[in-house]
Amino acid sequence: MIKNVASTPLEKDSQYIWHSMKKYHPDSTMIVKHADGSWVTDVEGKRYLDAMSGLWCVNVGYGRAELAEAAYQQMKELAYYPLTQSHLPAIQLAEKLNEWLGDEYVFFFSNSGSEANEVAFKIARQYHRQNNQPDRYKFISRYRAYHGNSMGALAATGQAERKYLYEPLAPGFLHVAPPDCYRSSHPADGTCCSESAKDIERVMMWELDQTIAGVIMEPIITGGGVLVPHQHYLKEVSDSCQRHGALLIVDEVINGFGRTGKPFGFMHYDVKPDIITMAKGLTSAYLPLSATAVRKDIYQAFQGREPYHHLRHINTFGGNPAACAVALKNLEILEKEQLVERAKQLGCRLAMEMQELYRHPRVGDVRIKGLLMGIELVEDKQSKQPIEPDKIQAIIARCKEKGLIIGKNGDTVAGYNNIITISPPLSITDDDFAFMTRVLKESVASL
Ligand code: PMP
Repeated sequence: MIKNVASTPLEKDSQYIWHSMKKYHPDSTMIVKHADGSWVTDVEGKRYLDAMSGLWCVNVGYGRAELAEAAYQQMKELAYYPLTQSHLPAIQLAEKLNEWLGDEYVFFFSNSGSEANEVAFKIARQYHRQNNQPDRYKFISRYRAYHGNSMGALAATGQAERKYLYEPLAPGFLHVAPPDCYRSSHPADGTCCSESAKDIERVMMWELDQTIAGVIMEPIITGGGVLVPHQHYLKEVSDSCQRHGALLIVDEVINGFGRTGKPFGFMHYDVKPDIITMAKGLTSAYLPLSATAVRKDIYQAFQGREPYHHLRHINTFGGNPAACAVALKNLEILEKEQLVERAKQLGCRLAMEMQELYRHPRVGDVRIKGLLMGIELVEDKQSKQPIEPDKIQAIIARCKEKGLIIGKNGDTVAGYNNIITISPPLSITDDDFAFMTRVLKESVASL
């Protein structure tokens, strides 16, 4: 037996736990012990306002006893049964999700956003195959988008630095430039988004449109730097999909469940997706659960008599009854406390609060939709040269010193992340909101 010389939790942690993204948070291991509302407490008793809701996911905030109770009651009643058969929490959740979607979709449940996207890709390919269009296997995605960590979802991801060590990934994924109005040479009147939408249509034609299975996109790119597109962008993409027979897959893993001030991000943009993937805010991350929502008529194409007209996909834990019960309770909380509306209102307040920051010489752009914000930092407004990494690091450290956790991500062309992100619980109190904006403004202004 190996003798354990580590004694403190931090020492044991560094001995046994393989953390993701350590490179980006080199000396910031925080062992979290407790969390309540928007605040997390570490083992030393220090408290931080978590303005990233974990990984953009704890939409109703921490410490909700009702969610623990829902899981407990459901586990006592039925802890597990596979969805090769069915159970009541999954049925009730599907019904509730359709209320949120305002339409009729059929749901395949999994455990994570990546899996939900993998299911979407498999359904899209098989759907076309069953419609006698077996050549439709390619997916178009955007650079800077993140769609997950598995071989297909990572192939859809448009961030090369996350991918290159693991290639070859799943074949058949193409990328176009994202709608980045700030860095586009076009004026900020939406032309740049139109160009990005046109690129998608061009790729469809260059690749021969009978080879395109679908387009996958987050309504608002989150992990690639919070890119809020112009109002008409998604509609143009959706129209191209319809013209060329491709399915529109909308990734609502972060955008969904009120984050952007609407139930789902796509609802800002007058489109009707063919497939919608969701995770994170579905349970506010209290338990793992994700869903792939599929338009009814697509589902019906899988109900033929041919033996291969069935989705050959099985997931042991997907749609776990306790996770479904937690999701139902989580949606009830979002509704009862009108948190989607609150995200919208706080988004407007955030925009007002940030006006002053926008005048700072190092603040290139501030992008906000609901309780989602990206602040792009530059060396100077003219050149838009991304700010040096140690300056970003200094802002993050300063916020943390003052008890605020913020995120960063960004433009991989810069080679590093120059965009500060905020995605707090939608349940954030007025006082906590004021604390968050004050510390953030002071920390950026101190540059
Ligand atoms: N899609 C998007 C937009 C995401 O942000 C993420 C995760 N950050 C995923 C998919 C993958 O989700 P998961 O980590 O649950 O697999």
